[in-house]
Amino acid sequence: MNAEYADFLRDESRREGWAEAIVFPTSTQEVCEALAVARENRWAVTVQGGRTGITGGCVPSGGLILNCSRMNTIGPIDGERITVQPGAVLSDVRAALQGSGLFFPSDPTETSASIGGMVANNASGARSFKYGSARNWIDALEVVLTSGEVVRVERGVHIADGFSFQLGSFSGELPPIPHPAVKNAAGYFIQPNMDLLDLFIGAEGTLGMVTSITLRLLPEPSELTGLTAFFASESDALQFVRSLRAKTNPIAIEFFDCHTLELLLRMKNEVAAFAELPLLAPEYHTAVYFEYEGAVPNSLETLIEPALECWMAEGSQEIGALKHFRHAVPESINLLIAERKKVIPELTKLGTDMSVPDEQLENVMRMYHAGLADAGLEYVIFGHIGNNHLHVNILPRSMEEYELGKALYFNWARQVVDWGGSVSAEHGIGKLKTEFLELMLGRENLRKMEDLKHLFDPSNLLNPGNLFERKI
Ligand SMILES: Cc1cc2nc3c(=O)[nH]c(=O)nc-3n(C[C@H](O)[C@H](O)[C@H](O)COP(=O)(O)OP(=O)(O)OC[C@H]3O[C@@H](n4cnc5c(N)ncnc54)[C@H](O)[C@@H]3O)c2cc1C
Repeated sequence: MNAEYADFLRDESRREGWAEAIVFPTSTQEVCEALAVARENRWAVTVQGGRTGITGGCVPSGGLILNCSRMNTIGPIDGERITVQPGAVLSDVRAALQGSGLFFPSDPTETSASIGGMVANNASGARSFKYGSARNWIDALEVVLTSGEVVRVERGVHIADGFSFQLGSFSGELPPIPHPAVKNAAGYFIQPNMDLLDLFIGAEGTLGMVTSITLRLLPEPSELTGLTAFFASESDALQFVRSLRAKTNPIAIEFFDCHTLELLLRMKNEVAAFAELPLLAPEYHTAVYFEYEGAVPNSLETLIEPALECWMAEGSQEIGALKHFRHAVPESINLLIAERKKVIPELTKLGTDMSVPDEQLENVMRMYHAGLADAGLEYVIFGHIGNNHLHVNILPRSMEEYELGKALYFNWARQVVDWGGSVSAEHGIGKLKTEFLELMLGRENLRKMEDLKHLFDPSNLLNPGNLFERKI
Protein backbone atom coordinates (compact mmCIF):
# COMPACT_ATOMS: atom_id res chain seq x y z
CA MET A 1 0.00 0.00 0.00
CA ASN A 2 1.21 3.50 -0.84
CA ALA A 3 3.25 5.17 1.96
CA GLU A 4 0.88 8.16 2.00
CA TYR A 5 -1.63 5.84 3.72
CA ALA A 6 0.80 4.79 6.49
CA ASP A 7 -1.38 6.39 9.19
CA PHE A 8 -4.18 3.98 8.31
CA LEU A 9 -2.07 1.09 9.56
CA ARG A 10 -2.37 2.25 13.19
CA ASP A 11 -4.88 3.13 15.87
CA GLU A 12 -4.40 4.76 19.28
CA SER A 13 -2.93 1.52 20.67
CA ARG A 14 0.06 2.38 18.43
CA ARG A 15 0.06 -1.19 17.14
CA GLU A 16 1.17 -1.12 13.52
CA GLY A 17 -0.26 -3.42 10.83
CA TRP A 18 0.07 -3.95 7.11
CA ALA A 19 -2.37 -4.11 4.19
CA GLU A 20 -2.47 -4.60 0.44
CA ALA A 21 -5.07 -1.91 -0.30
CA ILE A 22 -7.42 0.64 1.25
CA VAL A 23 -10.84 1.76 0.01
CA PHE A 24 -13.03 4.64 1.16
CA PRO A 25 -16.62 3.67 0.29
CA THR A 26 -19.32 6.33 0.40
CA SER A 27 -22.41 4.09 0.31
CA THR A 28 -23.72 0.67 1.33
CA GLN A 29 -23.58 -0.32 -2.35
CA GLU A 30 -19.86 0.47 -2.49
CA VAL A 31 -19.28 -1.53 0.70
CA CYS A 32 -21.03 -4.52 -0.94
CA GLU A 33 -18.84 -4.13 -4.04
CA ALA A 34 -15.64 -3.98 -1.97
CA LEU A 35 -16.68 -7.07 -0.01
CA ALA A 36 -17.40 -8.92 -3.28
CA VAL A 37 -13.84 -8.23 -4.45
CA ALA A 38 -12.47 -9.36 -1.07
CA ARG A 39 -14.53 -12.56 -1.21
CA GLU A 40 -13.34 -13.32 -4.72
CA ASN A 41 -9.69 -12.82 -3.78
CA ARG A 42 -10.04 -14.24 -0.26
CA TRP A 43 -8.65 -11.03 1.20
CA ALA A 44 -9.06 -10.26 4.87
CA VAL A 45 -11.12 -7.07 5.41
CA THR A 46 -10.45 -4.70 8.29
CA VAL A 47 -13.07 -2.04 8.99
CA GLN A 48 -11.96 1.36 10.25
CA GLY A 49 -13.84 4.19 11.90
CA GLY A 50 -12.05 7.09 13.60
CA ARG A 51 -9.04 4.85 14.57
CA THR A 52 -9.29 6.06 18.18
CA GLY A 53 -9.59 2.47 19.46
CA ILE A 54 -6.95 1.32 21.94
CA THR A 55 -6.96 -2.42 21.41
CA GLY A 56 -5.80 -2.61 17.78
CA GLY A 57 -9.29 -3.57 16.52
CA CYS A 58 -9.05 -1.54 13.29
CA VAL A 59 -5.36 -2.30 12.70
CA PRO A 60 -5.12 -4.54 9.61
CA SER A 61 -3.06 -7.67 9.32
CA GLY A 62 -2.95 -7.93 5.54
CA GLY A 63 -5.73 -7.69 2.95
CA LEU A 64 -8.07 -4.77 2.44
CA ILE A 65 -8.86 -1.81 4.70
CA LEU A 66 -12.47 -0.63 4.47
CA ASN A 67 -12.27 2.88 5.86
CA CYS A 68 -15.61 4.54 6.79
CA SER A 69 -14.43 8.15 6.94
CA ARG A 70 -16.27 9.11 3.74
CA MET A 71 -19.48 7.43 4.90
CA ASN A 72 -20.21 10.34 7.21
CA THR A 73 -23.65 11.65 6.28
CA ILE A 74 -25.79 12.76 9.21
CA GLY A 75 -29.51 12.56 8.46
CA PRO A 76 -32.18 15.00 9.66
CA ILE A 77 -33.54 14.69 13.20
CA ASP A 78 -36.69 12.59 13.12
CA GLY A 79 -38.64 13.02 16.38
CA GLU A 80 -36.17 11.83 19.00
CA ARG A 81 -34.05 9.82 16.56
CA ILE A 82 -31.36 10.54 14.03
CA THR A 83 -29.86 8.21 11.41
CA VAL A 84 -26.18 8.50 10.50
CA GLN A 85 -23.66 6.70 8.35
CA PRO A 86 -20.99 4.86 10.40
CA GLY A 87 -18.10 7.24 9.64
CA ALA A 88 -19.90 10.26 11.17
CA VAL A 89 -17.79 11.30 14.14
CA LEU A 90 -19.23 12.08 17.56
CA SER A 91 -18.23 15.77 17.48
CA ASP A 92 -20.09 16.24 14.15
CA VAL A 93 -23.19 14.46 15.44
CA ARG A 94 -23.13 16.72 18.50
CA ALA A 95 -22.76 19.79 16.26
CA ALA A 96 -25.72 18.63 14.14
CA LEU A 97 -27.86 18.32 17.29
CA GLN A 98 -26.90 21.72 18.65
CA GLY A 99 -29.94 23.94 19.11
CA SER A 100 -32.38 21.03 18.73
CA GLY A 101 -32.86 20.64 22.48
CA LEU A 102 -31.82 16.99 22.10
CA PHE A 103 -28.60 15.13 22.83
CA PHE A 104 -27.02 11.71 22.28
CA PRO A 105 -26.08 10.45 25.77
CA SER A 106 -23.18 8.20 24.80
CA ASP A 107 -19.92 9.94 25.66
CA PRO A 108 -16.57 8.21 25.16
CA THR A 109 -14.02 10.89 26.02
CA GLU A 110 -12.59 10.96 22.49
CA THR A 111 -15.03 12.92 20.27
CA SER A 112 -13.22 12.00 17.04
CA ALA A 113 -14.54 8.44 17.52
CA SER A 114 -16.96 7.43 14.77
CA ILE A 115 -20.47 6.25 15.54
CA GLY A 116 -19.71 2.97 13.71
CA GLY A 117 -16.69 2.41 15.95
CA MET A 118 -18.77 3.25 19.02
CA VAL A 119 -21.36 0.66 17.96
CA ALA A 120 -18.71 -1.97 17.21
CA ASN A 121 -17.08 -1.42 20.63
CA ASN A 122 -20.29 -0.67 22.56
CA ALA A 123 -18.45 2.41 23.81
CA SER A 124 -19.07 3.93 27.22
CA GLY A 125 -17.39 6.83 29.00
CA ALA A 126 -17.97 9.05 32.01
CA ARG A 127 -21.74 9.43 31.67
CA SER A 128 -22.31 5.70 31.29
CA PHE A 129 -22.66 5.76 35.09
CA LYS A 130 -26.19 7.05 34.45
CA TYR A 131 -26.84 6.35 30.78
CA GLY A 132 -25.15 2.99 30.32
CA SER A 133 -23.19 2.07 27.20
CA ALA A 134 -23.88 3.03 23.56
CA ARG A 135 -26.11 -0.07 23.23
CA ASN A 136 -28.89 1.70 25.16
CA TRP A 137 -29.05 4.51 22.57
CA ILE A 138 -29.14 2.53 19.34
CA ASP A 139 -32.55 1.82 17.83
CA ALA A 140 -31.69 0.34 14.43
CA LEU A 141 -28.72 -0.82 12.38
CA GLU A 142 -28.08 -1.66 8.77
CA VAL A 143 -25.40 -4.34 8.54
CA VAL A 144 -23.62 -5.79 5.52
CA LEU A 145 -22.71 -9.43 6.10
CA THR A 146 -19.68 -10.99 4.40
CA SER A 147 -22.03 -12.89 2.06
CA GLY A 148 -22.95 -9.47 0.65
CA GLU A 149 -26.44 -9.61 2.15
CA VAL A 150 -27.66 -6.33 3.65
CA VAL A 151 -29.85 -6.69 6.76
CA ARG A 152 -31.76 -4.01 8.64
CA VAL A 153 -32.22 -4.83 12.33
CA GLU A 154 -34.59 -2.81 14.49
CA ARG A 155 -34.97 -2.78 18.25
CA GLY A 156 -38.24 -4.38 19.32
CA VAL A 157 -38.80 -5.84 15.85
CA HIS A 158 -36.07 -8.41 15.21
CA ILE A 159 -35.98 -10.56 18.31
CA ALA A 160 -34.60 -14.04 19.06
CA ASP A 161 -37.03 -16.79 20.02
CA GLY A 162 -35.25 -17.99 23.15
CA PHE A 163 -31.83 -18.66 21.65
CA SER A 164 -33.09 -19.36 18.10
CA PHE A 165 -32.74 -16.60 15.58
CA GLN A 166 -33.50 -15.74 11.97
CA LEU A 167 -31.89 -12.76 10.28
CA GLY A 168 -32.16 -12.34 6.51
CA SER A 169 -31.15 -15.69 5.09
CA PHE A 170 -29.27 -16.64 8.28
CA SER A 171 -30.77 -18.71 11.05
CA GLY A 172 -29.39 -20.73 13.92
CA GLU A 173 -28.96 -21.03 17.66
CA LEU A 174 -27.20 -18.43 19.76
CA PRO A 175 -24.78 -19.96 22.26
CA PRO A 176 -25.55 -19.06 25.89
CA ILE A 177 -22.44 -17.14 26.94
CA PRO A 178 -22.12 -16.05 30.59
CA HIS A 179 -21.77 -12.31 31.30
CA PRO A 180 -20.23 -10.94 34.48
CA ALA A 181 -22.64 -8.74 36.50
CA VAL A 182 -20.44 -5.65 36.04
CA LYS A 183 -19.85 -3.09 33.29
CA ASN A 184 -18.64 -5.29 30.44
CA ALA A 185 -17.57 -4.97 26.78
CA ALA A 186 -15.78 -8.31 26.40
CA GLY A 187 -17.16 -10.75 23.84
CA TYR A 188 -20.54 -11.22 22.17
CA PHE A 189 -23.63 -10.03 24.01
CA ILE A 190 -26.08 -12.94 24.07
CA GLN A 191 -29.31 -13.36 26.04
CA PRO A 192 -32.49 -15.37 25.45
CA ASN A 193 -35.17 -13.42 23.54
CA MET A 194 -32.66 -10.69 22.81
CA ASP A 195 -32.98 -7.88 20.30
CA LEU A 196 -30.86 -9.13 17.44
CA LEU A 197 -29.20 -5.76 16.83
CA ASP A 198 -27.51 -6.24 20.22
CA LEU A 199 -25.56 -9.09 18.68
CA PHE A 200 -23.73 -6.62 16.40
CA ILE A 201 -23.26 -3.97 19.09
CA GLY A 202 -19.95 -4.75 20.79
CA ALA A 203 -19.06 -7.53 18.30
CA GLU A 204 -16.01 -5.48 17.21
CA GLY A 205 -16.95 -5.78 13.53
CA THR A 206 -16.49 -9.55 13.49
CA LEU A 207 -20.06 -10.45 12.45
CA GLY A 208 -20.82 -7.75 9.88
CA MET A 209 -19.99 -4.22 8.82
CA VAL A 210 -22.38 -1.59 10.17
CA THR A 211 -23.41 0.82 7.37
CA SER A 212 -26.21 2.85 8.97
CA ILE A 213 -27.16 3.59 12.58
CA THR A 214 -30.32 5.08 14.06
CA LEU A 215 -29.56 6.76 17.37
CA ARG A 216 -32.08 7.48 20.10
CA LEU A 217 -31.86 10.98 21.55
CA LEU A 218 -32.95 12.54 24.83
CA PRO A 219 -34.17 16.05 25.69
CA GLU A 220 -31.23 18.11 26.94
CA PRO A 221 -31.28 18.68 30.71
CA SER A 222 -32.04 22.31 31.62
CA GLU A 223 -29.18 22.46 34.11
CA LEU A 224 -25.82 20.70 34.23
CA THR A 225 -23.21 21.04 36.99
CA GLY A 226 -19.75 19.51 37.10
CA LEU A 227 -17.66 19.39 40.28
CA THR A 228 -14.09 18.33 41.01
CA ALA A 229 -13.29 17.55 44.64
CA PHE A 230 -9.71 17.20 45.86
CA PHE A 231 -8.75 15.00 48.82
CA ALA A 232 -5.70 14.60 51.05
CA SER A 233 -5.75 10.80 50.69
CA GLU A 234 -7.08 8.06 48.43
CA SER A 235 -9.10 6.47 51.23
CA ASP A 236 -10.96 9.79 51.79
CA ALA A 237 -11.71 9.90 48.06
CA LEU A 238 -12.97 6.29 47.95
CA GLN A 239 -15.19 6.90 50.96
CA PHE A 240 -16.56 9.99 49.23
CA VAL A 241 -17.32 7.96 46.07
CA ARG A 242 -19.30 5.46 48.16
CA SER A 243 -21.30 8.29 49.82
CA LEU A 244 -21.97 9.99 46.47
CA ARG A 245 -23.34 6.77 45.00
CA ALA A 246 -25.45 5.96 48.06
CA LYS A 247 -26.87 9.40 48.82
CA THR A 248 -27.02 11.39 45.58
CA ASN A 249 -27.80 10.73 41.94
CA PRO A 250 -24.84 11.90 39.81
CA ILE A 251 -24.61 11.12 36.09
CA ALA A 252 -20.81 10.61 36.15
CA ILE A 253 -18.16 9.83 38.80
CA GLU A 254 -14.54 9.90 37.66
CA PHE A 255 -11.32 9.32 39.58
CA PHE A 256 -7.74 10.66 39.39
CA ASP A 257 -5.08 9.08 41.61
CA CYS A 258 -2.05 10.90 43.02
CA HIS A 259 0.20 9.88 40.10
CA THR A 260 -2.34 11.21 37.58
CA LEU A 261 -2.43 14.60 39.32
CA GLU A 262 1.39 14.66 39.42
CA LEU A 263 1.53 13.89 35.70
CA LEU A 264 -0.95 16.69 34.87
CA LEU A 265 1.06 19.16 36.93
CA ARG A 266 4.26 18.10 35.19
CA MET A 267 2.66 18.45 31.76
CA LYS A 268 1.29 21.89 32.64
CA ASN A 269 4.78 23.05 33.57
CA GLU A 270 6.67 21.38 30.72
CA VAL A 271 4.43 21.23 27.63
CA ALA A 272 2.96 24.35 26.02
CA ALA A 273 -0.18 22.50 24.83
CA PHE A 274 -1.09 21.80 28.48
CA ALA A 275 -0.29 25.28 29.86
CA GLU A 276 -4.02 26.09 30.17
CA LEU A 277 -4.62 23.27 32.66
CA PRO A 278 -5.61 24.61 36.09
CA LEU A 279 -2.92 24.80 38.76
CA LEU A 280 -3.09 22.00 41.33
CA ALA A 281 -1.91 22.59 44.90
CA PRO A 282 0.75 20.12 46.12
CA GLU A 283 -1.49 18.88 48.97
CA TYR A 284 -4.16 17.67 46.51
CA HIS A 285 -3.51 13.92 46.61
CA THR A 286 -6.54 12.43 44.81
CA ALA A 287 -9.45 13.95 42.87
CA VAL A 288 -13.02 12.93 42.06
CA TYR A 289 -14.98 14.56 39.23
CA PHE A 290 -18.77 14.22 39.31
CA GLU A 291 -21.70 15.68 37.43
CA TYR A 292 -25.37 16.38 38.11
CA GLU A 293 -28.32 17.12 35.89
CA GLY A 294 -30.62 19.59 37.59
CA ALA A 295 -29.83 21.21 40.92
CA VAL A 296 -26.92 20.03 43.03
CA PRO A 297 -28.47 18.04 45.93
CA ASN A 298 -28.48 19.75 49.34
CA SER A 299 -26.97 16.64 50.95
CA LEU A 300 -23.73 17.31 49.07
CA GLU A 301 -22.80 20.06 51.52
CA THR A 302 -22.20 17.50 54.29
CA LEU A 303 -20.75 14.81 52.02
CA ILE A 304 -18.14 17.15 50.61
CA GLU A 305 -16.74 18.16 54.03
CA PRO A 306 -13.70 15.81 53.87
CA ALA A 307 -12.57 17.47 50.61
CA LEU A 308 -9.73 20.02 50.68
CA GLU A 309 -11.31 21.98 47.85
CA CYS A 310 -14.11 21.63 45.32
CA TRP A 311 -14.29 23.33 41.91
CA MET A 312 -17.71 23.86 40.44
CA ALA A 313 -18.66 24.47 36.80
CA GLU A 314 -22.12 25.25 35.45
CA GLY A 315 -23.35 24.90 31.88
CA SER A 316 -21.71 23.01 29.06
CA GLN A 317 -18.96 25.59 28.39
CA GLU A 318 -17.56 25.62 31.93
CA ILE A 319 -17.98 21.85 32.14
CA GLY A 320 -16.06 21.63 28.86
CA ALA A 321 -13.06 23.17 30.67
CA LEU A 322 -13.25 20.53 33.41
CA LYS A 323 -13.54 17.83 30.74
CA HIS A 324 -10.42 19.21 29.09
CA PHE A 325 -8.72 18.40 32.40
CA ARG A 326 -10.03 14.79 32.18
CA HIS A 327 -9.09 14.40 28.51
CA ALA A 328 -5.60 15.75 29.21
CA VAL A 329 -4.88 12.54 31.16
CA PRO A 330 -4.82 10.04 28.26
CA GLU A 331 -3.32 12.72 26.01
CA SER A 332 -0.43 13.31 28.45
CA ILE A 333 0.17 9.58 28.69
CA ASN A 334 0.26 9.21 24.90
CA LEU A 335 2.70 12.11 24.63
CA LEU A 336 4.99 10.64 27.28
CA ILE A 337 5.00 7.23 25.62
CA ALA A 338 5.55 8.79 22.16
CA GLU A 339 8.70 10.46 23.57
CA ARG A 340 9.95 7.15 25.00
CA LYS A 341 9.20 5.36 21.73
CA LYS A 342 11.69 7.64 19.98
CA VAL A 343 14.39 5.87 21.99
CA ILE A 344 12.79 2.38 22.25
CA PRO A 345 10.43 2.00 19.26
CA GLU A 346 8.85 -1.30 20.47
CA LEU A 347 7.66 0.31 23.71
CA THR A 348 3.93 0.89 24.32
CA LYS A 349 1.94 1.76 27.39
CA LEU A 350 0.02 -0.99 29.13
CA GLY A 351 -3.53 0.19 29.76
CA THR A 352 -6.04 -1.82 31.76
CA ASP A 353 -9.80 -1.56 31.30
CA MET A 354 -11.16 -3.91 33.96
CA SER A 355 -14.25 -3.55 36.15
CA VAL A 356 -15.01 -5.30 39.44
CA PRO A 357 -18.09 -5.84 41.60
CA ASP A 358 -18.84 -3.05 44.06
CA GLU A 359 -17.53 -4.86 47.11
CA GLN A 360 -14.08 -5.31 45.51
CA LEU A 361 -13.34 -1.63 44.81
CA GLU A 362 -10.95 -1.07 47.72
CA ASN A 363 -9.37 -4.50 47.19
CA VAL A 364 -8.65 -3.87 43.53
CA MET A 365 -7.07 -0.50 44.33
CA ARG A 366 -4.88 -2.13 46.98
CA MET A 367 -3.89 -4.85 44.51
CA TYR A 368 -2.91 -2.32 41.81
CA HIS A 369 -0.87 -0.02 44.08
CA ALA A 370 0.92 -2.84 45.91
CA GLY A 371 1.90 -4.72 42.74
CA LEU A 372 3.13 -1.60 40.98
CA ALA A 373 5.06 -0.27 43.96
CA ASP A 374 6.75 -3.67 44.49
CA ALA A 375 7.74 -3.78 40.83
CA GLY A 376 8.98 -0.17 40.90
CA LEU A 377 6.94 0.75 37.82
CA GLU A 378 5.77 4.23 36.80
CA TYR A 379 1.97 4.39 36.49
CA VAL A 380 -1.24 6.40 36.77
CA ILE A 381 -4.74 5.23 37.74
CA PHE A 382 -7.82 7.11 36.56
CA GLY A 383 -11.26 6.51 35.13
CA HIS A 384 -14.83 5.56 35.69
CA ILE A 385 -14.90 4.79 39.39
CA GLY A 386 -18.70 5.13 39.48
CA ASN A 387 -18.80 1.72 37.77
CA ASN A 388 -15.76 0.37 39.70
CA HIS A 389 -13.95 0.61 36.39
CA LEU A 390 -10.46 2.13 36.52
CA HIS A 391 -7.75 2.42 33.91
CA VAL A 392 -4.30 1.58 35.25
CA ASN A 393 -1.77 2.90 32.76
CA ILE A 394 1.70 1.45 33.26
CA LEU A 395 4.34 3.69 31.69
CA PRO A 396 7.39 1.47 31.08
CA ARG A 397 10.83 3.04 30.67
CA SER A 398 12.41 -0.08 29.18
CA MET A 399 11.39 -3.37 27.57
CA GLU A 400 12.21 -5.14 30.87
CA GLU A 401 9.68 -2.89 32.62
CA TYR A 402 7.21 -3.54 29.82
CA GLU A 403 7.48 -7.32 30.33
CA LEU A 404 7.22 -6.88 34.10
CA GLY A 405 4.05 -4.79 33.66
CA LYS A 406 2.56 -7.31 31.25
CA ALA A 407 3.01 -10.17 33.72
CA LEU A 408 1.49 -8.06 36.50
CA TYR A 409 -1.49 -7.18 34.27
CA PHE A 410 -2.15 -10.84 33.49
CA ASN A 411 -2.11 -11.76 37.21
CA TRP A 412 -4.54 -8.90 37.96
CA ALA A 413 -6.86 -10.13 35.19
CA ARG A 414 -6.92 -13.59 36.78
CA GLN A 415 -7.85 -12.08 40.16
CA VAL A 416 -10.47 -9.73 38.62
CA VAL A 417 -12.10 -12.70 36.86
CA ASP A 418 -12.09 -14.64 40.17
CA TRP A 419 -13.89 -11.71 41.79
CA GLY A 420 -16.56 -11.80 39.07
CA GLY A 421 -15.25 -8.77 37.14
CA SER A 422 -14.63 -8.12 33.46
CA VAL A 423 -11.31 -7.98 31.59
CA SER A 424 -12.72 -5.20 29.41
CA ALA A 425 -15.43 -2.82 30.54
CA GLU A 426 -15.40 -0.47 27.51
CA HIS A 427 -12.41 -0.62 25.15
CA GLY A 428 -13.13 -4.12 23.87
CA ILE A 429 -10.72 -6.97 23.19
CA GLY A 430 -9.46 -6.08 19.72
CA LYS A 431 -6.24 -7.87 18.79
CA LEU A 432 -4.36 -7.04 21.97
CA LYS A 433 -6.48 -8.69 24.66
CA THR A 434 -7.56 -12.01 23.14
CA GLU A 435 -5.83 -14.02 25.87
CA PHE A 436 -7.75 -12.03 28.49
CA LEU A 437 -11.05 -12.95 26.82
CA GLU A 438 -10.11 -16.62 26.99
CA LEU A 439 -9.18 -16.18 30.63
CA MET A 440 -12.60 -14.66 31.36
CA LEU A 441 -14.85 -16.93 29.28
CA GLY A 442 -12.91 -20.20 29.20
CA ARG A 443 -11.94 -22.09 26.07
CA GLU A 444 -15.31 -23.79 25.62
CA ASN A 445 -17.34 -20.56 25.63
CA LEU A 446 -14.82 -18.95 23.31
CA ARG A 447 -15.22 -21.87 20.91
CA LYS A 448 -19.00 -21.38 20.96
CA MET A 449 -18.49 -17.70 20.12
CA GLU A 450 -16.20 -18.70 17.28
CA ASP A 451 -18.87 -21.06 15.92
CA LEU A 452 -21.26 -18.11 15.77
CA LYS A 453 -18.67 -15.99 13.97
CA HIS A 454 -18.20 -18.88 11.52
CA LEU A 455 -21.94 -18.97 10.80
CA PHE A 456 -21.91 -15.31 9.70
CA ASP A 457 -18.43 -15.28 8.21
CA PRO A 458 -17.39 -18.85 7.22
CA SER A 459 -14.12 -17.76 5.59
CA ASN A 460 -13.10 -15.52 8.51
CA LEU A 461 -12.76 -12.54 6.17
CA LEU A 462 -14.05 -9.78 8.43
CA ASN A 463 -11.78 -8.27 11.08
CA PRO A 464 -9.75 -11.46 11.55
CA GLY A 465 -7.72 -11.39 14.75
CA ASN A 466 -10.34 -9.40 16.68
CA LEU A 467 -11.68 -11.29 19.73
CA PHE A 468 -10.12 -14.57 18.58
CA GLU A 469 -6.44 -15.28 18.07
CA ARG A 470 -5.90 -15.36 14.33
CA LYS A 471 -5.03 -18.81 13.00
CA ILE A 472 -2.87 -18.38 9.92
C1 LIG B 1 -7.98 9.70 24.51
C2 LIG B 1 -8.95 8.56 24.38
C3 LIG B 1 -9.96 8.41 25.33
C4 LIG B 1 -10.89 7.36 25.20
N1 LIG B 1 -11.87 7.25 26.13
C5 LIG B 1 -12.82 6.29 25.98
C6 LIG B 1 -13.91 6.20 26.91
O1 LIG B 1 -14.00 6.96 27.88
N2 LIG B 1 -14.83 5.24 26.71
C7 LIG B 1 -14.75 4.36 25.64
O2 LIG B 1 -15.64 3.51 25.49
N3 LIG B 1 -13.73 4.42 24.76
C8 LIG B 1 -12.78 5.36 24.90
N4 LIG B 1 -11.74 5.44 23.99
C9 LIG B 1 -11.62 4.40 22.95
C10 LIG B 1 -12.29 4.72 21.61
O3 LIG B 1 -12.51 6.09 21.43
C11 LIG B 1 -13.60 3.96 21.47
O4 LIG B 1 -13.36 2.56 21.50
C12 LIG B 1 -14.37 4.25 20.16
O5 LIG B 1 -15.63 3.63 20.23
C13 LIG B 1 -13.65 3.79 18.90
O6 LIG B 1 -14.28 4.39 17.77
P1 LIG B 1 -13.49 4.58 16.40
O7 LIG B 1 -14.41 5.14 15.40
O8 LIG B 1 -12.24 5.31 16.61
O9 LIG B 1 -13.21 3.06 16.04
P2 LIG B 1 -11.90 2.40 15.41
O10 LIG B 1 -10.77 2.53 16.35
O11 LIG B 1 -11.72 2.86 14.03
O12 LIG B 1 -12.39 0.89 15.40
C14 LIG B 1 -12.74 0.23 16.61
C15 LIG B 1 -13.36 -1.12 16.27
O13 LIG B 1 -14.61 -0.92 15.62
C16 LIG B 1 -14.64 -1.59 14.36
N5 LIG B 1 -15.47 -0.78 13.47
C17 LIG B 1 -15.32 0.55 13.21
N6 LIG B 1 -16.30 0.95 12.38
C18 LIG B 1 -17.08 -0.13 12.13
C19 LIG B 1 -18.24 -0.36 11.34
N7 LIG B 1 -18.81 0.61 10.64
N8 LIG B 1 -18.76 -1.61 11.29
C20 LIG B 1 -18.19 -2.63 12.01
N9 LIG B 1 -17.10 -2.47 12.76
C21 LIG B 1 -16.54 -1.23 12.82
C22 LIG B 1 -13.18 -1.67 13.95
O14 LIG B 1 -12.96 -2.71 13.02
C23 LIG B 1 -12.52 -1.92 15.28
O15 LIG B 1 -12.62 -3.28 15.64
C24 LIG B 1 -10.80 6.46 24.10
C25 LIG B 1 -9.79 6.63 23.15
C26 LIG B 1 -8.87 7.66 23.28
C27 LIG B 1 -7.81 7.82 22.24
